[in-house]
Amino acid sequence: MLAYTYKDHGVFKLTEKPKPTIQNSKDAIIKITMSSICTSDLHIKHGFVPKAVVGITVGHEMVGVVEETGADVKTVKKGDRVTVNVETFCGKCFFCKNGFVNNCTDENGGWALGCRIDGGQTEYVRVPYADQGLNKIPDSVSDEQALFVGDILATGFWAAKISEIKETDTVLIIGAGPTGICTLLCAMLKNPKKIIVCEKDKTRRNFVKKHYPNVIVVEPENCLETVNKESANGGADVVIEVAGSEESFQSAWQSARPNAIVTIVALYDKPMILPLPDMYGKNLIFKTGGVDGCDCDKILSLIEQSKIDTTPLITHKFPLKDIEKAYEIFENKLDNVIKIAIVN
Ligand SMILES: [Zn+2]
Ligand SMILES: [Zn+2]
Repeated sequence: MLAYTYKDHGVFKLTEKPKPTIQNSKDAIIKITMSSICTSDLHIKHGFVPKAVVGITVGHEMVGVVEETGADVKTVKKGDRVTVNVETFCGKCFFCKNGFVNNCTDENGGWALGCRIDGGQTEYVRVPYADQGLNKIPDSVSDEQALFVGDILATGFWAAKISEIKETDTVLIIGAGPTGICTLLCAMLKNPKKIIVCEKDKTRRNFVKKHYPNVIVVEPENCLETVNKESANGGADVVIEVAGSEESFQSAWQSARPNAIVTIVALYDKPMILPLPDMYGKNLIFKTGGVDGCDCDKILSLIEQSKIDTTPLITHKFPLKDIEKAYEIFENKLDNVIKIAIVN
């Protein structure tokens, strides 16, 4: 089968690999119908993910059909359409039991697929702990609708959940890339009074304006001023930072009102400075962390009820054999790309 493979620093290549087989009684083999490219794949390509193993098939966003299950797999069977969770987790350890599946202490736990073990930019994938890592897609939900459930949509859902958004709140979301937009969709479910999205890229600002006309869209230069004008108590009640630059990090705490919640979802490439003397008396509550994919069933149900729709994010589609071209467009942000679906 064809597999997009991490060959060396800076090099991914489409190669032939044998079809995966069941290695453990809790594994399932999934025939992939659709996958996508994530910025984290580019982080692997450029050497920013020390745990990534050379030779693995990349890709951790995918949906497909169950092809085969190990003897101890209970929740899915051959022929089921499923989403695949970016995180591998045992379901039994302290963290799994408390919903913090990202922190699963199992040796295979955490981000394994497409990083430490073969992932989804291919034709078939082996998913360990299939009972935890797979969620059945309702019949009325298409592959396109379900494609982002296991990764960026799970991230957005988690971010909105831990941000404790109330209906009286003004919420600021910094960054309108794919994860920022997923965060926006999940924040909208909480019905806050106002949502402001700050984004430096014009194409992305226009995308938000076009699809979500009730959202206030602002450039970084005017962010602080707009937030102050649009909020009742000298800043946003909730700030969610999804952009990941030094400027966006500073903007996140500066735009928050005293006692606000500031949720940091972004991944930075270096340490950030918290200027505590300048923040003194602001009494902010910081929450940090990336995806915790513990709510995929809830997210699928919300999609089924037409409460979340991420299909506008899919701006391009390519067959697996043309994945190099898809990477070129995604990596260089060509042709107003937001997300690319790789269709098998
Ligand atoms: Zn990802
Ligand atoms: Zn666990």
